[in-house]
Amino acid sequence: MMNEQQPKAPLNPGDEARPGTPGSGEDVCPVCAGKGKNAVAQPCPNCGGSGKIIEGIGGG
Ligand SMILES: [Zn+2]
Repeated sequence: MMNEQQPKAPLNPGDEARPGTPGSGEDVCPVCAGKGKNAVAQPCPNCGGSGKIIEGIGGG
């Protein structure tokens, strides 16, 4: 049985909320500074190479 709920869009470790979530906003990834790559030119593990993360605003 597969009872696990999976998000429709994969979240990166740096994402705090899904895109479009009320109270959240897109921001530049603080790890790669929006470059999408880390120091060794691999896709940034924090943002998944997008250079952006979804931040929760206001918190819960
Ligand atoms: Zn990044």
